[in-house]
Amino acid sequence: MNDFEAGRPLVLRGGTVLPMDGRRVLPRTDVLVTGDTIAAVGPGLEAPEGATEIDATGGIVMPGMIDTHRHMWQTALRGYGADWTLTQYFVWFYLEHGKLFRPEDVHAGNTLAAIEAIDAGVTTVVDWSHGLRTPDHADAAADALRSVPGRYVLAYGNIQQPPAEWATAPEFRDFVRRRITGDGMLGFQMAFDVLGDPSFPEQPAFEVARDLGVAVTTHAGVWGATGDDGIRLMYEHGFMTPGTVYVHAASLSADSYHRIAATGGSISVSTESEQSAGQGYPPTWAVRAHGIPVSLSMDTSVWWSGDLFSAMRATLGADRSREHLEAHAKSETVTHCALRADQVVDWATRGGAAAIGRDDLGTVAPGRKADLVLIKNDASPVSFPLLNPFGHVAFQAQRGDVHTVLVNGRVVKHEHRLVGIDLAAARAEAERTVEYLKGEMGEEAWEKGMNPDIPSTKVLDNPYTYTDYRSDSTHRL
Ligand SMILES: [Zn+2]
Repeated sequence: MNDFEAGRPLVLRGGTVLPMDGRRVLPRTDVLVTGDTIAAVGPGLEAPEGATEIDATGGIVMPGMIDTHRHMWQTALRGYGADWTLTQYFVWFYLEHGKLFRPEDVHAGNTLAAIEAIDAGVTTVVDWSHGLRTPDHADAAADALRSVPGRYVLAYGNIQQPPAEWATAPEFRDFVRRRITGDGMLGFQMAFDVLGDPSFPEQPAFEVARDLGVAVTTHAGVWGATGDDGIRLMYEHGFMTPGTVYVHAASLSADSYHRIAATGGSISVSTESEQSAGQGYPPTWAVRAHGIPVSLSMDTSVWWSGDLFSAMRATLGADRSREHLEAHAKSETVTHCALRADQVVDWATRGGAAAIGRDDLGTVAPGRKADLVLIKNDASPVSFPLLNPFGHVAFQAQRGDVHTVLVNGRVVKHEHRLVGIDLAAARAEAERTVEYLKGEMGEEAWEKGMNPDIPSTKVLDNPYTYTDYRSDSTHRL
């Protein structure tokens, strides 16, 4: 018998539940799921006849995590750009090789990214899909997202054409009509950037979004690319709306943050991305001061993982690092951290749900969609003692500790194994894409793209002299 057949009730027994309604922690608590919904949360729940039981004792039950910005189509190039800067990324994807991607390559990336997400307990991902240069590419992206049992939002974009062109094309409308059904498993946004040209050429794309009633997600506050001018143009033309998601928002003035706060938008912070690509300093410290809602994102697996544990960890580290550094510059000492572990867990769950306008996600409460993660790994020395569950999620846990994942009431991972996922097929697709791209680019360009030149570093003159300890045999082990 299949323990996870559709429609069968399920209860997660005796876990430490993080409902994400503040800092509340519910020890030894059950979560009952019927259909696609959380039916009850409490101790010693009576489960309906025939319910599947999952032992959650010693583990943490939390809402599925939500990533509000990931370029899923790039995932077949996992790790390729580990040493890139943003400039090298732009040259590779925007100018030189992004055009090579065929619909099947978008499909390969999206499929792998979608599987990677649910494996890591990321039950909803906004696919910032800016490689959709033809309707076939868009269909391939949607097909892939529909083939994996996670929840996704297709944020439609095309870096090879100005937004005013692709957004007003009849094929785009046709795609939305054909593929976006509003069933709650595949949402829709429009994804494009505002470059600050005073003639505001992006206006027609914003008008289409308004007409369709869909949110816009935009890379805003990216050093050298988008900045305060773009925000001001959006504001002056009335396109800063509550659903708008500003990605990075790392190189903006206080004035722009005020405009975002006043119009009800939210910021998607991609700390690992901002730290190594160079969009600007991860802005949580500034955003906090302006009272702007935050969600977290991983941007692209070309550099980083698709894992929100790292996003939470990096975000706490960057925020605290900045706080200490600024205090030290004034000869002061930070004695209390402003950003807390529970806050980044909130951003990774409820913050993401709010950003995409889904108040039925991001919390563990009766009536909410059953997107749930059980973090539990009895074989790991890091699984106990479980003293501070929020701290545990943010600093101790990792994707290998994700024991069980439910999306819309369906078990997609159990006992650390994906359920009903054809990983071999996803691997074969990704390998075909890599082979094709390598072939088109040629071995030399492929290698060069992955291994950018290292700038020379001048080693400083040292005023001290010392004996050469390296040749001193007494220091050898
Ligand atoms: Zn991005």
